[in-house]
Amino acid sequence: MGRVLVMLTAATAVVACSVATVMVRRRVKRRRKWRKVVGLLKDLEESFETPLGRLRQMVDAIAVEMQAGLVSEGGSKLKMLLTFVDDLPNGSERGTYYALHLGGSYFRIIRVHLGGQRSSLEVQDIERHSIPTSLLNSTSEVLFDFLASSLQRFIEKEGHESISSQDVKRELAFTFSFPVKQTSLSSGVLIKWTKGFAISEMAGEDIAECLQGAVDRRGLDIHVAALVNDTVGALSYGHYHDPDTIAAVVFGTGSNACYLERTDAIIKCQNPRTTSGSMVVNMEWGNFWSSRLPRTSYDIELDAESLNSNDMGFEKMIGGMYLGDIVRRVILRMSQESDIFGPISSILSTPFVLRTNSVSAMHEDDTPELHEVATILKHLGVPNVPLKVRKLVVKICDVVTRRAARLAAAGISGILKKLGRDGSVGEGRRRSSDKQMMRRTVVAVEGGLYSNYRMFREYMDEALRDILGDDVARQVVIKAMEDGSSIGSALLLASSHSVRTISNI
Ligand code: ADP
Ligand code: MG
Repeated sequence: MGRVLVMLTAATAVVACSVATVMVRRRVKRRRKWRKVVGLLKDLEESFETPLGRLRQMVDAIAVEMQAGLVSEGGSKLKMLLTFVDDLPNGSERGTYYALHLGGSYFRIIRVHLGGQRSSLEVQDIERHSIPTSLLNSTSEVLFDFLASSLQRFIEKEGHESISSQDVKRELAFTFSFPVKQTSLSSGVLIKWTKGFAISEMAGEDIAECLQGAVDRRGLDIHVAALVNDTVGALSYGHYHDPDTIAAVVFGTGSNACYLERTDAIIKCQNPRTTSGSMVVNMEWGNFWSSRLPRTSYDIELDAESLNSNDMGFEKMIGGMYLGDIVRRVILRMSQESDIFGPISSILSTPFVLRTNSVSAMHEDDTPELHEVATILKHLGVPNVPLKVRKLVVKICDVVTRRAARLAAAGISGILKKLGRDGSVGEGRRRSSDKQMMRRTVVAVEGGLYSNYRMFREYMDEALRDILGDDVARQVVIKAMEDGSSIGSALLLASSHSVRTISNI
């Protein structure tokens, strides 16, 4: 009996020992894996870093590229496109105008009524729809027929007091969020598609004519009277409310900026034919490139696999279409190099499956257990990850978005520098009283990324203060413009009409 007991005790001890050994080994292995993940995170943070010195170099590079793009056609990756917009709306416009806005993810149709003063601006109707994904690689005929049929439905809703009953043709501005070489305020040719669009049969076609043709084929009483880049629409809306507005930036599916330039600085344009002495320039800043941009292996892979590789490098680091995919690529790489996310999810391997609205939802998840993060990861085929892994995912969102927001701030500061409004003119020679002479400068900002992602906004504001310094930053007002691109295009059309009417008298 005693021997049996001894043997039993010994056996139990052996089992306990081996269980303990296995547990210790597992813990050591887990720790080693976690250390590897911490190493990966550190590498990530380093490669996405945007220290102030680097941002300042980017500011300089943007200002230099802007200048080069103004001197000659093809002189820079920044196309610095002419818009033929010289007079911006000021509040005195009258009438009823329409705008159809083709964005990267949404299209919008609006009708506005203007009563001759700012306070009487009335958005009478506005519709916002997702662009069906089937359109992205369809034909120009399909695209424009789709837009014309949407317009038809929009105007069919109008009541009896609508403009048509007054026997006046409807005047429509076409707000277009892709690069166009404009030949006048109302005409222009597509340069290239961006943001995942790849519609054939468009090269060399006049965009406004394409829409007018589709509208005419449906017998609609609509005149496509202006072709307006979305940034120019946002600038018009900003200027309508605040004449200190001199630039506009869109942070939506993609990203772009425009600003008001002196015509004598637009050297490549011999005969600008403007009366105001200035013209709005569409920078097409999504294509900005500089060796100072913190390009990582994730950016290189994303670009190589995109429809427009070697193009739109800046947009691919800051555009809403891409941020989600950068985060997805980081999570995928981490799950391949360690097993903290469990077995590799095939869903996670699908490009663009993680959208930027999910990135902001995870980043701004304030529940103690990070429920939102858990839910989104589950949808990505990564269920049941422990809290510390969820925290890691929040950190990845933070790293990617912070870089984007700081680069965006460098972009805005680049425009201010080009205009001599970044406070650097005469730096060192500046007298303290000059600070009071800094002009108030308003930058209109629009787009779903900016308006819906608080952390993006906060990081951008912080970086602007870092770059410009508090004194200058206080004079720079960033004004969010909900639906500014669409409303502003209608306002711009109205103001071009009032100019025409006055000059005809
Ligand atoms: P468009 O680019 O079609 O003009 P928006 O300006 O509304 O449309 O921008 C839409 C883009 O904004 C989406 O593709 C997405 O990238 C981004 N976005 C929308 N909602 C959010 C959100 N909650 N958080 C972060 N980004 C968002
Ligand atoms: Mg937009």
